Amino acid sequence: MRSLFIVLLSLFVTNTFAQKAEYLIVITSDGVRWQDVFTGLDTTIANNKKYHEGDSTALRQKFYADAFNQRRQMLMPFLWSTIAAKGQIYGNRTLHNYVNNANPYWFSYPGYSEIFTGFVDTAVNSNDYMPNPNITVLEYLQQQPAFHNKVAAFGAWSAFDRILNEKRSGIPVMSGYDATAPFNATKTQLLLDKMLAETYRPWGTEECLDVFTHHNAMNYLKEKKPDVLYISYGETDEWAHAGKYASYLKAINQVDKWIAEIWDFVQHDPKYKNKTAILITTDHGRGDENKDEWTSHGAKIKGANEIWMALLGPGIKPLGELNKPQQHYQQQAAQTMAEILGVSFKAKHPVAPALPFNQ
Ligand SMILES: [Zn+2]
Repeated sequence: MRSLFIVLLSLFVTNTFAQKAEYLIVITSDGVRWQDVFTGLDTTIANNKKYHEGDSTALRQKFYADAFNQRRQMLMPFLWSTIAAKGQIYGNRTLHNYVNNANPYWFSYPGYSEIFTGFVDTAVNSNDYMPNPNITVLEYLQQQPAFHNKVAAFGAWSAFDRILNEKRSGIPVMSGYDATAPFNATKTQLLLDKMLAETYRPWGTEECLDVFTHHNAMNYLKEKKPDVLYISYGETDEWAHAGKYASYLKAINQVDKWIAEIWDFVQHDPKYKNKTAILITTDHGRGDENKDEWTSHGAKIKGANEIWMALLGPGIKPLGELNKPQQHYQQQAAQTMAEILGVSFKAKHPVAPALPFNQ
């Protein structure tokens, strides 16, 4: 009797620890600083008329409080409520919890490549780089029978066709002004594609407004029910380069609202409910030491290699904001995605270990 009890107990324990997600949604927002994520609006930047877009009062009303933890809650309410309570948030350097680019470049293509390949290829040194020669974790999952043709990616920036090597990987990558209807020919999708084709193009043909990327991805999630979905938002980086701090903060706030919308959908959907994890991160940081450098990034900008990462879902221990000294790297994201799904990502190149999300 006693041994039966022990067997049952050990089964229960094993099961509890082996709990994993069946589905994964990866979300990135380009060039979002950890300073803004963890401490909210920066008053020095917000008060500077070069950056507040003519209305510092409105900006303060929306995002300012004396306490940093109130400011960050105003900026990213979903991150600082649901994820802080049930998930994990890495990268608060004021608590000595560090996440950095391992790549030496601190701009987009090398950053996204590091996120998805799980290693640094120093040859990947340009945003115009050719289709990624290295396999990404998304391509690896696409090759597994369990996930075959159940992986999809949506990105505001057209470079994702190359970063994720759409051609070789066979993953549908709807980036920039790509139509989604070829993969999902519904009435709603045809309207979304028509609007995308007709909208104002603030950044030429390279990048669209996030609202299109979000609703294309959201519509695909609802209608095609992929097992693994990647959504890449880009406005945060664009407004920062333009020196528009109000628009940059509003874009961060909108991304947080969209993440809440995605989470609300999956948690009410019979397929996804309690079986879906999300991983949120960014491709690079931006300057802060010199306050005018918040608009910039790249290897010459001190601190532009400082990033952050957040996780939520089954199998992810609810540690909230990580408050102990740790050093993690962007390249750990790939194996983290795989292990969240109970898979081990193997490639010809070395793959960095996962974040300690279940410890
Ligand atoms: Zn940039």
